[in-house]
Amino acid sequence: MCYARAVDRHLYGEEHTLFRQSFDRFIEREIVPNQKSWNEQGMVDRETWRKAGGGGFLCPWLGEDYGGPGGDFLHSCVVNEGLSRVYESGFAMALHSDIVVPYIHAFGSEEQKQQWLPGCAAGDIVTAIAMTEPGTGSDLAAIATTAVKDGDHYVINGSKTFISNGILCDLCIVAAKTDPDPNNKHRGISLFVIEADTPGFDKGKKLEKMGMASQDTSELSFEDCRVPAANLLGEEGSGFLQLMTNLQQERLVVAVGAQASAEQVLKDAIAYTKERAAFGRPISKFQNTRFKIAECATKVEVGRAFLDELLRRHVAGEHLVKECSMAKLWQTEMLGEVVDTCLQFYGGYGYMLEYPISRAYMDARVSRIYAGTNEIMKLIIAKQLDL
Ligand SMILES: Cc1cc2nc3c(=O)[nH]c(=O)nc-3n(C[C@H](O)[C@H](O)[C@H](O)COP(=O)(O)OP(=O)(O)OC[C@H]3O[C@@H](n4cnc5c(N)ncnc54)[C@H](O)[C@@H]3O)c2cc1C
Repeated sequence: MCYARAVDRHLYGEEHTLFRQSFDRFIEREIVPNQKSWNEQGMVDRETWRKAGGGGFLCPWLGEDYGGPGGDFLHSCVVNEGLSRVYESGFAMALHSDIVVPYIHAFGSEEQKQQWLPGCAAGDIVTAIAMTEPGTGSDLAAIATTAVKDGDHYVINGSKTFISNGILCDLCIVAAKTDPDPNNKHRGISLFVIEADTPGFDKGKKLEKMGMASQDTSELSFEDCRVPAANLLGEEGSGFLQLMTNLQQERLVVAVGAQASAEQVLKDAIAYTKERAAFGRPISKFQNTRFKIAECATKVEVGRAFLDELLRRHVAGEHLVKECSMAKLWQTEMLGEVVDTCLQFYGGYGYMLEYPISRAYMDARVSRIYAGTNEIMKLIIAKQLDL
């Protein structure tokens, strides 16, 4: 008998099931055959972004009035889960659709939305978000990039690093200080939508990483980069609040990917332990294997129940600060434990790149670091508990 979930998923409706079938076909046709070359070139082909947009798989939650297909965040979860199922960790569809574009949708003016959202849904515009700098990541209020008003422009100066989609992006949301007063740390931050061909916006080198081989993570720099004041997102000084509002969904996106990855890793490991024999029997028959798999399956199923309930509440419009941090913390720690345990079942093959488990192991590590480190998640949870 194969691994079956004890927890039935009541989260999705029929429209999501149909969407999943359609995305599964897209995965088999457009993603799986390209993964090897994407891993080698360290980047997904731009053409595939356009095909994903054409299929309605980018920003699936976006309304038709802005060029989207008019679904909801659960359609995005279908995409996120589908990519995890084939171990595609570098095609940052979720970052684009569910992390960056929502800033424009939530805080942009009508004119900004009309200007950029249709291209984002079509895949003609690939987006990135640049918060982290060489000198600061967790302490967002300490960013040093500045934006100085000059007539009807802002002049941006500073450096960003570890920016996902950094090379491919056509549009980048950049956090910068509009008020350098150290007593005004949080209210001094603003978000700007910067087009990649703006003079003074330079894409630095693509960074060599431990995992996420097909992801074009890079440095970005801004040198006297003149950005029209019309590209300010919302009001000047509201950037920190905007980030704090939207970071909940970012954490949820990471949790969704981690949960789906853990499920796939476990499923494949169960199949492998039944096929691989040692000492005259399948390794699944050793007590150690059975106990370890039982532990992993328990963690995965408990995680699924928590996460699906959270997704249901998030889609219903609840603002869940504590719970989103808990999910990001718990699901990514759980993935780390499951992928490490499962890799061991493969023996030496688990260390070979041709086995997806080895890539899954390397890909998983960053989920405890980005979107706010897991230590920062604990700080937020503790604060929410009034500690
Ligand atoms: C592959 C990858 C992709 C990324 N993509 C993006 C992106 O697209 N856009 C973007 O803006 N950023 C991105 N990041 C950056 C990421 O969000 C940061 O690396 C992360 O927030 C941590 O910041 P830092 O690296 O500066 O670590 P630091 O903030 O220097 O933290 C170092 C260590 O100190 C700990 N620490 C810090 N403060 C505290 C505290 N108060 N209490 C306890 N422990 C603490 C941290 O948990 C960590 O363990 C990406 C990173 C990676 C690796």
